[in-house]
Amino acid sequence: MQHPINILERYWNFTEFKPLQEDIINAVIEGEDTFALLPTGGGKSLCFQIPALAKEGICIVISPLVALMKNQVERLQEQGIKAMALTSGISSQQIDTMLDNCIYGNYKFLYLSPERLQQELVQDRIKQMNVNLIAVDEAHCISQWGNDFRPAYKNIMLLRQLQPSANVIALTASATPKVVEDIIKELDFINPKIFKQSFSRPNLAYLVLHEDDKYYRIESILKKYTASSIIYVRNRKLTLEISSFLEKKGITATYYHGGLPNNEKDAHMQQWLNNQKQVMVATNAFGMGIDKPDVKTVIHFNLPESIESYFQEAGRVGRNGEKAFAVILKNNSDEQLVKNQFLSVLPTIDFIKQVYRKLSNYFQIPYGEGAYSTCDFDFNSFCKTYNFGNMLCYNALLLLDRTSIINLSKQFQNQVSLQITASNSVVFRYLETHHDKVLIVKSMLRMYGGIFDHDTKINTLRVAEKASTKEVVVISVLKQLQKDEIIALNLSKTDAQITFIEPREDDKTINRIADMIEQQNNLKKLQVNAVLDYIKNDDICKSVQLLSYFGEKNVNPCGICSVCTTTKKPSKTLNTKTLKNQIIELLETKDLSSREMISMLDYSEKDIKDMIQMLLEHSIISITKTNTYKLFHK
Ligand code: ADP
Repeated sequence: MQHPINILERYWNFTEFKPLQEDIINAVIEGEDTFALLPTGGGKSLCFQIPALAKEGICIVISPLVALMKNQVERLQEQGIKAMALTSGISSQQIDTMLDNCIYGNYKFLYLSPERLQQELVQDRIKQMNVNLIAVDEAHCISQWGNDFRPAYKNIMLLRQLQPSANVIALTASATPKVVEDIIKELDFINPKIFKQSFSRPNLAYLVLHEDDKYYRIESILKKYTASSIIYVRNRKLTLEISSFLEKKGITATYYHGGLPNNEKDAHMQQWLNNQKQVMVATNAFGMGIDKPDVKTVIHFNLPESIESYFQEAGRVGRNGEKAFAVILKNNSDEQLVKNQFLSVLPTIDFIKQVYRKLSNYFQIPYGEGAYSTCDFDFNSFCKTYNFGNMLCYNALLLLDRTSIINLSKQFQNQVSLQITASNSVVFRYLETHHDKVLIVKSMLRMYGGIFDHDTKINTLRVAEKASTKEVVVISVLKQLQKDEIIALNLSKTDAQITFIEPREDDKTINRIADMIEQQNNLKKLQVNAVLDYIKNDDICKSVQLLSYFGEKNVNPCGICSVCTTTKKPSKTLNTKTLKNQIIELLETKDLSSREMISMLDYSEKDIKDMIQMLLEHSIISITKTNTYKLFHK
């Protein structure tokens, strides 16, 4: 058997292990059930990949996300290691051949989504494999107290039965003590070897700042620290709004959200990765797998939805070990906003029943049927037809997806088909006077042979690439061509596909997952409250608060967070009467924001804010529409 360090050098070209990697690898090689809790970037993949390479046989990896699986399989293949992923959209016949290869073809890694384990074909073949290890990536998905609970993860127990002698390694970067306990129970670990690296990040200053004018504040932070930065915002619209605000202020910025076409996502990401753009303004769809070492600040413009996701997002700064900042900007309206965004849109069981029934009706699926049928789905028109609120309905669909009742795949691509109805000579005469359309029409003619004869499906993205333009331009040209009676165009607004996984049984289907839905809704409330506690608690070091959320004890205050620095800052001894008079004097001349008053007065930020609060409560001052303060009777 090859020694782990030799495998590390041979395949990865690294010369030493990261903290805990070697201990974890040795435990796995010795056949122990092992639990690895390492922060993002801690090098989890190698903890199962190296033992699997050291031993005879194949390693089965369970992973929740197709993108993660594909990425890892591609990397292994580049290193000359035989690996494959069974994702959705593969025919049974293909699966058959692939699984044969796992048994007879010397494959070292088989990546599976947990749903695949339900298929008998897959189970039968796994039984015949020489499995040397079962790796459960993102293991927190197995716990209903975890951030991304996926009931299908419970299928992993099946693997234990199919391969009783293979040992299991669970890996995660996010686990509270309750979740850890749950994972151990669900994976039937007896005496597991648990390896946990502290989640402490000594170079990272966690700051929670009260700010009435958040735009002003991000501008000043980003002008002070001109290095790479991420701003997380609540919705897609804000990504655009804030990045163009920053650009106007002379700070280079781009944006990212789940609704962008893939080519734009890639382009924006590249601009940020190679520092052409200082700032990435993004929704939480951004960041998975990002390993940029020099990110100096991560700013949460809006409150995060849970401490778990905050820790992941904030953790993307300072990977190079230099001092870095994770900032949350808060103001008085945030608590309500976060509740509106995350709590008022939690679907009840009755609502989910309604959505499920309407969905089946919408696609005319008869009772008892529909398993594995796939339909194009226009989300907006569905909501409109049944008068469902968008967010609420979307969350209901997500829950149905997570519980494997449906599979919701977003493609965000325009489905376009067309036929050229004008004759060849008319088309060319037309192009003589419409130069802006020449390249696009010619590109289509080259790419699609029968386009004059029949309705042809067009990939607008590829046409755009060939004609060196943007997809939106192609679409608008097509619309014009239709108006000018050159083509007959079918432009469907479909932006997603739904696959019904279970046969339709209306309420019965939903009753089966009712407990889980309630539990998930409760969890969401707990998580939002934990965030509110975190931003409000200005007595305990922010780093200590975060680490104790993840079960770490006896942690020393960091000395650099917003709590530690405020308590350390020598502040003028508080004379409440003088401070009160000074604030009133200032406001007699003009209306001011709290930030402006803080910069003018020689008292600590906290004392000034407390006094403003007191003056508000006593109706001595009031707040204006532009978030400044004025004297009540002025
Ligand atoms: P995680 O899954 O814990 O976030 P990954 O397995 O993706 O981490 O590894 C993060 C990065 O660290 C990858 O780029 C990986 O190649 C690198 N890495 C892993 N182990 C080592 C090592 N021993 N030495 C240097 N780099 C490593």
